[in-house]
Amino acid sequence: MRIIKNHFVLRESYIPEYLPCRERHIDRLKENFKSVFDSIPPEDMHLFGPTGTGKTVVSLNVKRSFSSVGKTDLDPLSSVVIRYVNCHNVNSAYRVMINLVKAINTAYPNVGPPYDQICSDFAGYMAKHGYMFIVILDEVDLLIRRDGDRLLYTLKRLQDLGEGSISLVTVSNDMGFMGKLTSRVKSSYSPEMVRFDPYKASELELILKQRAERGLRKGSWDEGAISYISAIVAKNHNGDARKAIDLLYLAAKTAERNGSVKLGVPHVKEALSKMKHDTVEIKIRTLPPQKILVLEAIAKLMHEGKKAYTGTIYDVYYHIAKLLGFTPLSMRSVAEIIKNLDELGILTSDVMFRGRYGNTRSINSLSLSPKEILAIIEDLGLLVPRDILQRYLEHSTSL
Ligand code: ADP
Ligand code: MG
Repeated sequence: MRIIKNHFVLRESYIPEYLPCRERHIDRLKENFKSVFDSIPPEDMHLFGPTGTGKTVVSLNVKRSFSSVGKTDLDPLSSVVIRYVNCHNVNSAYRVMINLVKAINTAYPNVGPPYDQICSDFAGYMAKHGYMFIVILDEVDLLIRRDGDRLLYTLKRLQDLGEGSISLVTVSNDMGFMGKLTSRVKSSYSPEMVRFDPYKASELELILKQRAERGLRKGSWDEGAISYISAIVAKNHNGDARKAIDLLYLAAKTAERNGSVKLGVPHVKEALSKMKHDTVEIKIRTLPPQKILVLEAIAKLMHEGKKAYTGTIYDVYYHIAKLLGFTPLSMRSVAEIIKNLDELGILTSDVMFRGRYGNTRSINSLSLSPKEILAIIEDLGLLVPRDILQRYLEHSTSL
């Protein structure tokens, strides 16, 4: 039975023209941007809040509403440029500056000119045409972390030249972003701060209803499923709308696959556990091999119903490493890895006592069943078959 009528609506790249519960944020941005109609440069702004609170979609929505105005009637807007740059992809000051110049001169080379040259070319274009430039720097914290404050410093300096105008809109998931700026930028950058709070369950419901109405076949979902997703995401996922929409999409696919006529709470539950499985699986797959071997030892012990603590884990790990041709790490390193696996959310453990080799821990639980973990490790080609391991452990009491 088909439940999904439009996949596109349920995906990340879809930008609704109406964003429930973000009217105030959109109005503030529009109000600020509107001053370009009177040839007044908009104020700098900083949008901040946890992931999935709509910062990106609000920025893009506002940008889009301005570009459609520009194309239709208002001629002065031809000198207004709104450029959205995602610093996750365009991740150096150099590449951002090239990107900005290309917004004005599409023929500008992608690489080659030295940084200072690009900046003075940009200043030249600005002076010549008197552009009013609005630069939206999304995920700007990633760029600062990678490349320091060079970009913001440059843009502030260009702003001071006063040829044309540059307005900055920085966007960040990092709540402490402004505090992390260097003093040379901090002293000159004081944007209007726009905070995005996590969505509450009632707000997520409105967002999901909109998606369901556009993306799912009429009458193919239970309102209860939407309330359920909203409640779970508000409670366990910090009101992240992306999570909520992903979950709706995955639950709809699950319901379709099961041949159900209607998407209901059980499909959401199934989707949730699949989502959890996938998240943990990705974490495991991206671990370095030695850490996987430690996890393998833990999963093997727990699969056999044995107690897993640092000593027994080390014993099993040691043989697994040998059998697979790895040089076994020290007890201390293995203790450190166990702690790390706990921090990553792959397992939970208790510190039993502090010892010479670091803390001795005992494992409480794994975030997937030992069997599921062993299956992933097998798929990675790092599983030592039980009988072979058994033979090597004969003199040991742990397995
Ligand atoms: P952020 O940039 O704050 O991490 P996004 O803007 O990427 O969050 O939003 C995450 C997802 O949730 C996107 O798919 C976006 O379309 C959707 N979304 C967020 N807020 C809303 C809203 N108010 N209305 C509709 N969809 C929204
Ligand atoms: Mg974002």
